[in-house]
Amino acid sequence: MLEIDVLTIFPELFGPFLDTAFVGMARRDGAARIDTHDLRGWATDRHRSVDDTPYGGGPGMVMTPEPLVPAIEALAGPKGPDRKVHVICLSPQGRPLDQARLVALAAAPALLFVCGRYEGIDQRVLDLAVDEELSIGDYVLSGGEIPTMVAIEGLVRLLPGVLGNPDSIETESFRGGGVLEGPQYTRPPVYRGLEVPPVLRSGNHAAIEAWRREQALNRTRARRPELLDAAPESRSDAGIEETKRPLGDPTHPKRD
Ligand code: SAM
Repeated sequence: MLEIDVLTIFPELFGPFLDTAFVGMARRDGAARIDTHDLRGWATDRHRSVDDTPYGGGPGMVMTPEPLVPAIEALAGPKGPDRKVHVICLSPQGRPLDQARLVALAAAPALLFVCGRYEGIDQRVLDLAVDEELSIGDYVLSGGEIPTMVAIEGLVRLLPGVLGNPDSIETESFRGGGVLEGPQYTRPPVYRGLEVPPVLRSGNHAAIEAWRREQALNRTRARRPELLDAAPESRSDAGIEETKRPLGDPTHPKRD
């Protein structure tokens, strides 16, 4: 069972999300335990403060080490090699979250997500108590709650037994050779003059497989050609020239 805790000043944002669809099912079936915790429960003043004005001036407020560090340590233990819980802070400055990172995190025994608000979190919290910062994209939201839900939803569907048909994970975007999935169709066979490609109704599984592969590569080449750089076997299929750029893992750039 994957154990997930979430530290936030808005636990109420998670209500229906945690009870609905695959996330709700995973919790009910015991594939995941997910609990939210109100950071203000660790505040020590009578206003239950979690933020203060930034040193050096500037707009907005910054989340203070008190009560964040004690709260993280209460839920995950002190940072260090013996800590069993991997502590993640959602931040636009973090490593871009991708499918490969979700797969790795889904194998962890326990995760704590820390949701920032205001102008962000005092750097000492990140230095003293957080293992990893993750971003859901190059844009700025007002808080880490929705980014945390994004990560949880992506994680939970990877847990054994959660998806009815685990094959769907293997064929969907970013998994099947690291490319986008191609177009999909269901009934009716003709809708407003647009026909489902006949090969999909042919019953010829090899032809269907080849068509899907070709469509996936065409779509990836048109929309996200950089993904083909990371999938060498796909690159040659797609007629993409070898580039001089070293392969490595472009979605996980080395960070200092
Ligand atoms: N001042 C920060 C900056 O310029 O990088 C932005 C702070 S943002 C207004 C407040 C919080 O929202 C962050 O601490 C983070 O938890 C969350 N957040 C906003 N955008 C995010 C993103 N793209 N990915 C992950 N978390 C994000």
